[in-house]
Amino acid sequence: MKKVITLLGTLAVVLAMAACGSEPADKDNADSNGGFTTASEGKLIMATNAAFPPYEYIEGGNVAGIDAEIAAAIADKLGLELQIDDMEFDSITGAIANGKADMGLAGMTVTPDRQEEVNFTVSYATGVQVIIVAEDSAITSVDDLFAEGASHVIGVQRNTTGDLYTTDDIEKKGLGTIDRYSKGADAVQALKTGKVDCVVIDNEPAKAFVQEVEGLKILETEYITEDYAIAMSKSNAELYEAVNSTLQELINDGTVKRIIDKYITAD
Ligand code: GLN
Repeated sequence: MKKVITLLGTLAVVLAMAACGSEPADKDNADSNGGFTTASEGKLIMATNAAFPPYEYIEGGNVAGIDAEIAAAIADKLGLELQIDDMEFDSITGAIANGKADMGLAGMTVTPDRQEEVNFTVSYATGVQVIIVAEDSAITSVDDLFAEGASHVIGVQRNTTGDLYTTDDIEKKGLGTIDRYSKGADAVQALKTGKVDCVVIDNEPAKAFVQEVEGLKILETEYITEDYAIAMSKSNAELYEAVNSTLQELINDGTVKRIIDKYITAD
């Protein structure tokens, strides 16, 4: 019995040391580099696909938008310089997994498949998959896409959730075909020229695209609601912790909401 007590005592001391021992060490570290490493020293590299307004788009040669501003606020709090790398949407998780970029902000939906490759932070926004059609389209509700005998051509951005869902719900069931484009705007152009019957895409870019292209509308019925989060490497726990807790602070203190409200007006 005595031995057990001694062992427990030792364990308690070790745990106590571990608990407070890491504190001052990390604190020292925090002053220099925050106790984490990034892909490039002193920088926080964000991977994105700047064709997804108002989350990310090119303005005056730079990437602007909600995600760029949230990333800038995180970098600022961590004392790092933000670098934004623009790439194809379906290259983002790979760039993070192989350490070329530190975090992916791209209006990216948390999905189980992506969670195999990357870690997601807390969610900072909600997205809704909606359907864009021509104003005089015979498609009047999202249910028309799944109706028996349906055979529409559906435009999507490659490897986005719009692609994943329609592939499963429509193409694999023989209810239509999917045309995949590297940009949402290209899918919308294909709709304009009649190459596709509708486009399935996130609601906010949908609004932006419909505003720019005449003769299109967004159906009232929504396809699915999803959570946007920051994608991060599974093998950099310290950086994940730093970014995730900073994002949580920015959510708690209202910064994230202020940034989103700047770009998205309630309708
Ligand atoms: N939310 C969608 C997804 O994660 C689309 C994102 C995007 O096109 N940038 O797949």
